[in-house]
Amino acid sequence: MIYCAVTHSFNGTPSGNFSQIEGGVWPASLAICIHGLAALGLATVPSNTDLHSHSTASDGTLSPVALLSHAAEQGIARFALTDHDTTAGLTAAGAQALELGIELVPGVELSVSWEGKILHVVGLYIDDTHPPLQAGMAILRDARDIRAREIGRRLASHGIEDTYTVARGLAQGEMITRAHYARALVANAQAKSPQDAFRRLLGRGCPGYVDSPGAGLAEAIGWITGAGGIAVLAHPLAYGLTRLWLPLVLTAFGEAGGRAIEVVYGNNTPAQNRKSAQLAREYGFLASLGADYHGPKLGGVRLGELPALPADLEPVWQHPARSLDVTK
Ligand code: MN
Ligand code: MN
Ligand code: MN
Repeated sequence: MIYCAVTHSFNGTPSGNFSQIEGGVWPASLAICIHGLAALGLATVPSNTDLHSHSTASDGTLSPVALLSHAAEQGIARFALTDHDTTAGLTAAGAQALELGIELVPGVELSVSWEGKILHVVGLYIDDTHPPLQAGMAILRDARDIRAREIGRRLASHGIEDTYTVARGLAQGEMITRAHYARALVANAQAKSPQDAFRRLLGRGCPGYVDSPGAGLAEAIGWITGAGGIAVLAHPLAYGLTRLWLPLVLTAFGEAGGRAIEVVYGNNTPAQNRKSAQLAREYGFLASLGADYHGPKLGGVRLGELPALPADLEPVWQHPARSLDVTK
């Protein structure tokens, strides 16, 4: 079979690389044992923080309320909801977090276009009422809608009809993403799984691929910092950047006001987590971590299994910029 997609897609479908981070679900007796090993530096205890997730407000499959409940069940104590280009889920998530005694970090994941590449910038500790942030996200959502219709047209000209209608139905009035198309193609028996849909029909270079819209890098970071937030470069190793491009992206991100990178990421291999940690050290970025959870049916990433950040890095949640948080 010929795969037209790149090995990684970061829009709801972890594809290609399913290798999981160290750790897993351990029985209680073994967990005690592992705590002992961790004290000796021999094993990794999962972190109780996760700062990257999606709900039905964008391309996740759980409602904000169900997502927070699941996070609590998985032992998460500090959690960020970071839907794509919308903060519509934050109110419901905040109420549920209060109910459950979890700290909800208000967040968003913005799509950015830089030098012909699409990057994702997570904003954490944002004031979601900040008007320039809301105005910017509204533009991005309009562009996403145009893109969604264009994907439908391209699939139709490839002989696959009616997916736009099905995808729109699955999105239930929220934004229509490629993840909804992937599910629509499974529902229409045009793909075996969402991953299969991405590989053959929706990924870059495939018949239904349409570039995703993005804000300018400095513009998006400006919306986040203007809203009192911290801009985090999401999954820096997931864009397929070459050795030449990776330093250029990290430098441009820092110069534009970005403060942190995701060091531990749900789809990273252990080696990629180590490499990201090294990048944070080299460039002086704060460190964040997140599974990029999209729901129980979407691949191998689960909540509550991320290893903790390396102890020498400054976690994004301990940074004084948090005191600039004007909302909560
Ligand atoms: Mn992303
Ligand atoms: Mn997504
Ligand atoms: Mn994400």
